[in-house]
Amino acid sequence: MIDRRRVKIKCCNKACGRTYALTRVLEDGENPRLLVECPYCGVEAVAELAQWRSESVVVSKGIEGEEQVVATSFVLPDVLPSRPVTDEDQG
Ligand SMILES: [Zn+2]
Repeated sequence: MIDRRRVKIKCCNKACGRTYALTRVLEDGENPRLLVECPYCGVEAVAELAQWRSESVVVSKGIEGEEQVVATSFVLPDVLPSRPVTDEDQG
């Protein structure tokens, strides 16, 4: 699933706290997240996506009859919260 979207992120730097918009590809995976950088203060941050994942069952008609497929998509809030990057995120 590749989902290209314009997302708004709230800067995790308390001294900044601004909201910025980025166009990013949302990719589903074990631990979906976006690595972002605030254009105002330059602080790198991580926006977790797992909590915004939404699964829905879609029924599609195939050759052998009806088939149920689980479709995953992200239902994001207007502004995504972010958190500081940790050593773990750097890998
Ligand atoms: Zn900032």
